[in-house]
Amino acid sequence: MKSRLLRLGQHLLFTWPIIAFVLFKAAAVCAQGSGYEFNDSHFHLTNNIQEGPRIREFLKMMGTHAGRVAVFGIPLQQQWSYRVDGDRAPKYYLQSDAPLYYYSFTDAWIASEYKSLSKQEQSRFDPMITGFNPTDMYAVDHIRRVLQTYPGVFTGIGEFTIHKEFVAAKIPGEVASLQNPALDRILDFAGEVGLLVILHNDIDLPLAKDIAKEQAEPAYLAQLKAVLKRHPNTTIIWAHMGLGRLVAPPPNFFQEIDTILHDPDFRNVYFDISWDEVAKYFVGSAEATKRLANLVQRYPDRLLFGTDAPAPRDQDKYLKVFYQYDPLWNSLDAETSRKVRLENYERIFDTARHKVRAWEKAHLLAVQKQIDSRENLHAHDSGLAVN
Ligand SMILES: [Zn+2]
Repeated sequence: MKSRLLRLGQHLLFTWPIIAFVLFKAAAVCAQGSGYEFNDSHFHLTNNIQEGPRIREFLKMMGTHAGRVAVFGIPLQQQWSYRVDGDRAPKYYLQSDAPLYYYSFTDAWIASEYKSLSKQEQSRFDPMITGFNPTDMYAVDHIRRVLQTYPGVFTGIGEFTIHKEFVAAKIPGEVASLQNPALDRILDFAGEVGLLVILHNDIDLPLAKDIAKEQAEPAYLAQLKAVLKRHPNTTIIWAHMGLGRLVAPPPNFFQEIDTILHDPDFRNVYFDISWDEVAKYFVGSAEATKRLANLVQRYPDRLLFGTDAPAPRDQDKYLKVFYQYDPLWNSLDAETSRKVRLENYERIFDTARHKVRAWEKAHLLAVQKQIDSRENLHAHDSGLAVN
């Protein structure tokens, strides 16, 4: 691409200098674009109490390191219960026994931060909708409403959570479940619109090795596979490959993931490699790194890198996870490493972006026309019509 633009530029230099200049500029942008170290498929701009850097500050942290970022809030707000915690204001879900609750305004915050950027800056972000309760049959209506309120902004939904150590049990009301039709409804709608899905679901219970030695199957694997299989037209990234702070890879973990990646029925499924808490299982030893690298080499198009660095205070904090995975980057061949760090993101998020924009064009315009004609009718009925 770059060399073709340059050649064309050279040819035109003598005939049409202004066009030649534009082409040289375009070649320079291409070259610069390929200079980023990674794209980030998993990033929370805010934390559990909706605090975090402004998107402009974050853009500086991305610098020349991160090219593009999938950006979202955290939909689960930690309540500061004075009765439980007194003056000690909790900032993280593990800092209090008080509950978490769904905080839908997070989507409006993300959209308005995105909209504060120039078009060129916006092109480096893929905002995601997260502020819905996945046990609610009305969740889809929230997602549709967000698309309608902020057309041209969002690329997907998530990261949203079904089973997550410590978190799932802290949400009052109905416990999220992979067997809930509300989840199927959300995934069907995402497929229809083309919204990319980032799903957090632990593959197993925390500390499963210690508490359930007799259990051969990871607790949630079969249910999750059934969900993924039921939605072949929805592109789903399974966050953290199903692992967590205390959810270690169960026996046969790499075999199980390999089976999914190998099966054409799961061609809609991708995995992210993210979160410093999970890095310990993957790059904690040479042996662990080798096992992950082997899997990535076998399926170079199916894994993406994400930081999962929530609301970072500075650039060092933001980049930490990427460098933590250096042993992995050093174990992959150059092409595979490039795909996982950069190209898979571009392909998958670009596809989703285009589909969602097309859906918005086809559906939201129709919705708007309906609203307009209804309003005209009301105005006419009440004698307020101008003409
Ligand atoms: Zn996350």
